[in-house]
Amino acid sequence: MIDNMNFYRFMHKQILIVIGLFISTGAGYLYMGWIYASLLPEILWFTLLLVISYWGYRLHRVYADNDLNMVEKEKWLHELRYFLFIYFSIWTIMFVMYISRSTIELHYMAVATQLGVTVVSATILVSQRKLATLTLVSLMIPLMIYFILLGEFYSYLLAFFTVVLSGVLLYASNNTFNYLVKSQYQAYHDYLTSLGNRRYFIELIEDVIKAKSNHEKYLYLLLIDLDHFKSINDTLGHDIGDDLLREVATRMSLLGKETKNNVARLGGDEFCVLSGSFETKQECMDNAMKFAEKLLETIKESYVIDEHHLYISASIGVSLINNLKMKANTFIKEADIAMYEAKSLGRDGIILFNDDLSMRVERNLEIEQFLHFALKNDEITLKYQPQFNTQEEVIGCEVLVRWHNEKLGNVGPNEFIPISEQTGLILELGYFILEESFKTMQEWDRNGIIIDQMSINISMRQLIHHNFIHDVQKLCKAYLNPELCKKIVFEMTETSVAEDIQALVKNINILKDDGIRFSIDDFGTGYSSLSYLRQIPIDELKIDRSFIMELDNSEDGRIMVNTIINIAKNLKLMIVAEGVETEFQKGFLINNGCDILQGYYYAKALDKAEFVSLRQKIK
Ligand code: C2E
Ligand code: CA
Ligand code: CA
Repeated sequence: MIDNMNFYRFMHKQILIVIGLFISTGAGYLYMGWIYASLLPEILWFTLLLVISYWGYRLHRVYADNDLNMVEKEKWLHELRYFLFIYFSIWTIMFVMYISRSTIELHYMAVATQLGVTVVSATILVSQRKLATLTLVSLMIPLMIYFILLGEFYSYLLAFFTVVLSGVLLYASNNTFNYLVKSQYQAYHDYLTSLGNRRYFIELIEDVIKAKSNHEKYLYLLLIDLDHFKSINDTLGHDIGDDLLREVATRMSLLGKETKNNVARLGGDEFCVLSGSFETKQECMDNAMKFAEKLLETIKESYVIDEHHLYISASIGVSLINNLKMKANTFIKEADIAMYEAKSLGRDGIILFNDDLSMRVERNLEIEQFLHFALKNDEITLKYQPQFNTQEEVIGCEVLVRWHNEKLGNVGPNEFIPISEQTGLILELGYFILEESFKTMQEWDRNGIIIDQMSINISMRQLIHHNFIHDVQKLCKAYLNPELCKKIVFEMTETSVAEDIQALVKNINILKDDGIRFSIDDFGTGYSSLSYLRQIPIDELKIDRSFIMELDNSEDGRIMVNTIINIAKNLKLMIVAEGVETEFQKGFLINNGCDILQGYYYAKALDKAEFVSLRQKIK
């Protein structure tokens, strides 16, 4: 089917060219008739030409005005072939008519036009190999017969020339045809795996959408992305990466063939599958999941490439196609969203696109849009959650960002910080938070509100940005003296600790030279905490709220917190407990050697004025 895809469009464009060419040159015959006083046959012939031209024009319109599906296009092309053959053949009528007259000029005219039309047919019909040959032969044979019948030596030669010309034309048109097929193939196929490419896949879906027989039916679409393919590429080289992709493609298309599913490669390590149609949604969904599971299993079987034993898994997003009003890209997008969900749930899994997902994506998009203007519209504010020492004195605070938007209301940092990290907005936002916090620190210092530390949350994306050090130093200079600088603590979360530890450590050390301290936030919830602790030069450790919550519930929970405190003590780190909510938690933490406490038991995040008045109350 694919081989015809572009030819329809190609032929559709050619129709008008032929019609224009034929009507304008056909009019030449009217002129001939007028000169040689035989106007009636020419007028009749030209009228026939016009009538057939109209047929061609109709065909042109049918294609342009209707979004034909494959079957309809095939029918259309079939009719078009008849039209073209007849259209070219009517010149033979004129040829026969003129050579049967005795005027030699008319013979010249007939021969020249017949030759011309032959050349035109060889060019125009290039994409229709059979039709081109048939038309060419049917135009050339009368010419040859004519030359032979003339019975002169030169005319035999001309007949021979005609045969040679036909051969050359057929050869040339054949070459062009092969070239067309090849470029057509390249336009719709992926060079590496020979699977259909993105364009092919999109047209495939569009065709499904157009086909009226698919109304009320269901199809499924899978989007498959290999997990950690990049690391194979990076560590073993692109050749091995390519081989692996080819092998995955082969396995997928074999499996696809069994189930009559279409497999394509969208690019990189992303593949997709389109199923046939199902009568009910349930049936479609069941089949989708069954196929996806089988596919995942197949992909995960081991590979031997260049003596390397490789394993790879994939994340698969599934979307169902049944609302035929939607665009091909929308379905791919849905599968893409589901695929990303599968990735974020730990990869090596299958997720079916659903309304919840779609709502979340919409909400995130909305947040992203409004977040762009949040700073400019003064919607971002800072709150300060007090931190207490074991004597219950306020010794510092954690800066927590707040966002109020007119349309969205209050949006929590847990929701918008990750989005700002993904979009890069965190850089601008983080700068603002730093500057505001430093200003507050300066203001409090001037007003005699002295605290030991101000903790500011820093996203990893900010911390490893090449401008970060420069920005912090600039802001320190602008608002803080060296003494105040030493009171700044940057909190970073362990889960987001960068892959490039060395660069991170370098940045941290530069800032530590300026007196800034570092804290690991949410300690215990991330990965390989202990190995990071050894590598990263930090000063403080924050026990995550989830551990504090467990204190009331179980002995295990208490042992856990104790262990963390001991680790911190051994490494000579300050230890902060966050999310302290009960008297019991407070007592336990203080008795076991925790240095600083923070939580609703003491106070929520406060605005500046509230913080100041609390601080003045509880020294
Ligand atoms: P986090 O750094 O772990 O911040 C502590 C969160 O726990 C804060 O939520 C705080 O209001 C809340 N909390 C404090 N004490 C208690 C308690 O006793 N009980 C309960 N249930 N919750 C308590 P918040 O302000 O919604 O912040 C959520 C997260 O957003 C933060 O977690 C932090 O990861 C991020 N975040 C907040 N502000 C910033 C910021 O300025 N920059 C960056 N990069 N991230 C921020
Ligand atoms: Ca924090
Ligand atoms: Ca935390």
